[in-house]
Amino acid sequence: MKVFEKAPAKINLSLDVLRKREDGYHEVEMVMTMVDLADRLEMQELNRDTIIISSQAGYIPLDEKNLAFQAARLIKDRYDVRKGVYIHLDKKIPVAAGLAGGSSDAAATLRGLNRLWKLDIPEDELMALGAELGSDVPFCVTGGTAVARGRGEKLEAIPSPPSCWVILAKPPLNVSTSEVYGKLRADRIARHPSVPDMIEAIRTKDFERVCGSLGNVLEDITLNLYPEVRQLKMCMEKLGTEGVLMSGSGPTVFGLVEKEAKAIRIYNGLRGFCKEVYAVRMLT
Ligand code: ATP
Repeated sequence: MKVFEKAPAKINLSLDVLRKREDGYHEVEMVMTMVDLADRLEMQELNRDTIIISSQAGYIPLDEKNLAFQAARLIKDRYDVRKGVYIHLDKKIPVAAGLAGGSSDAAATLRGLNRLWKLDIPEDELMALGAELGSDVPFCVTGGTAVARGRGEKLEAIPSPPSCWVILAKPPLNVSTSEVYGKLRADRIARHPSVPDMIEAIRTKDFERVCGSLGNVLEDITLNLYPEVRQLKMCMEKLGTEGVLMSGSGPTVFGLVEKEAKAIRIYNGLRGFCKEVYAVRMLT
């Protein structure tokens, strides 16, 4: 028995931090959606009670540090599954890029093993399991477009954004999410993005307003730490993207474009500037 799952990348169209909580976490308000850049997971049942991970990508852990491994172990323990699984991760999403690749792999593993072992776990229970693995995992279980609040675990599904092209560029550097959050002074944020504006722009399928409402309070921090990310953003703006934003804590920057011909032109223009560039559709 074998099952396949796609694990798409996530981008934040809006990321706001409202305050730092007493428990040390940040209270966030974010709009998240998926793009058509995805890892592909193959899960094959093993009669031996073991979890084996393989991947063509040489730069991710293949042991219990891998989020897909952790998802498999969690579901096995919780539902007392005595069989094993071999999981192959065909990685397409750049790693440590602010695109939640690991979280999406974990979510795809939960969905896939639910099918492989016919466990009939309802979606809300899968999401609760996902929350034990990471704050982006519950969203990745359902996908679509959602507003996330609290620590990121309170999700409200909203309609999908207007269809468009998303050009993603990842500069060759690693950004530590905890370092970026560590530098954020929640009480001194100069400009908060308007999440209600973004939600309204999405509901009315107003592409221009979506572009005008893009915002991420982590962007200035990463841009100040890594000038090359700022240059990349300026380069995307110059090439004519209709809206540009850094995703999550970075370093990936994405640009939105309505027309395919323009998307291709910008993609080609960026390739001279940055090695890792993708032009994909927004998932709607
Ligand atoms: P986030 O924005 O959720 O912090 P990210 O997109 O910046 O995530 P990931 O690609 O999820 O980053 O990888 C973050 C770290 O997780 C990497 O350093 C990697 O070693 C580890 N990791 C564990 N499992 C995976 C996986 N299945 N795919 C990619 N990275 C993984």
